[in-house]
Amino acid sequence: MIKRKPKWLLKKVFFSQQKDVEISLKDIGIHTVCQEAMCPNMSECFSKKLATFMILGSICTRACTYCSVDTGKPSGIDEKEPQKVADAVHSLGLRHVVITSVTRDDLADGGAEQFVRCVKAIKEMDESITVELLVPDLRYNVEALNAVANCGAEIVGHNIETVPRLYSVRKGANYELSLGVLESLKAANSKLKTKSALMLGLGESQEEIRETLQDLLDIECTLLTMGQYLAPSKVHTEVVEYIEPKKFEEYGQMASDMGFEFVKSSPYTRSSYMAHEYFEER
Ligand code: SF4
Repeated sequence: MIKRKPKWLLKKVFFSQQKDVEISLKDIGIHTVCQEAMCPNMSECFSKKLATFMILGSICTRACTYCSVDTGKPSGIDEKEPQKVADAVHSLGLRHVVITSVTRDDLADGGAEQFVRCVKAIKEMDESITVELLVPDLRYNVEALNAVANCGAEIVGHNIETVPRLYSVRKGANYELSLGVLESLKAANSKLKTKSALMLGLGESQEEIRETLQDLLDIECTLLTMGQYLAPSKVHTEVVEYIEPKKFEEYGQMASDMGFEFVKSSPYTRSSYMAHEYFEER
C-alpha cells in the first residue's frame, strides 16, 4: 500500500504555466525526462523555462523498480536529434542545458556517441552555453565513458541512486560498477566535474548515506543532489519513509561538511533540479 503523502509533499501544480514549454518542445519533437518521469517539479521548472532533455527515445532497456519510464525494445537513433536539442535550447533561451537518456543496452556504446553529437550541436550554436550530461552506465564501456568525459560538457553525472544494501531496486546495475563509471569519467578528464544523486526514503540509514557520500568523495565526485523517492504507482517499489524537510537540510549540511562543493538536498530535489545554480554560485 502506498503511504499517504505528508503535507510537505503536496506541491502545487500550475498547469497553465507549463503549456508554452510543452507546446514548443512538442513542435520541435524532443522528449524531456521531466514529462517521461512525471517529475513533481515540472510546473516550477517549465514556468522558469527549465527542462532536462531526454535523448535516444523514450523506451528504456532496463526496468528499475522505482522508475516510471517505459521499458521495452527501443527504436533506432534519430540522426536529427542533436539539432532538435540545439533548437530546443535556443527556443527556451537556456544558458545551462541538462541532457540525459534512457539506458540503451542495445547499443554497443550505450548511446555515448549521440550524447557527444548533442553537445557538439549546442556548442557550435553558442560555445558559452554550459552543458551537463546525466549518463546511464554506458555498459561500462571505457571508450564510451572517455568520449563523453572529453566531449566539451562541463559536468557529467551518473546517479548512484541508493546505498549498496538496497541496490536490488536498480535492475542490471551494480554499486561498485556505478562508482566505477564516475571514477572512469574523472580519470578520463581531470578537469571534468562529476555529479551524482541519491533518492532517499527507501529504508537507508544515516550511516549508510554517510558511507555512500564518502565513497563518492573518494573518487572526486563533488556535486550532489538528494531527494525523496516517490513511488510512481502501486506496482513500483514502495516508499519506506517520507523524510522531513529538516532532515534533508541536515543531510545537505553533512554533505557540505564532508567536502561536496555543490549540494541540493530537499524532498523535491531531483538530479537536474536547478542545476544551473552551480555556475551561478561560483
Ligand atoms: S527537476 Fe529536472 S526533471 Fe524535474 S522538471 Fe525540473 S528539470 Fe525536469
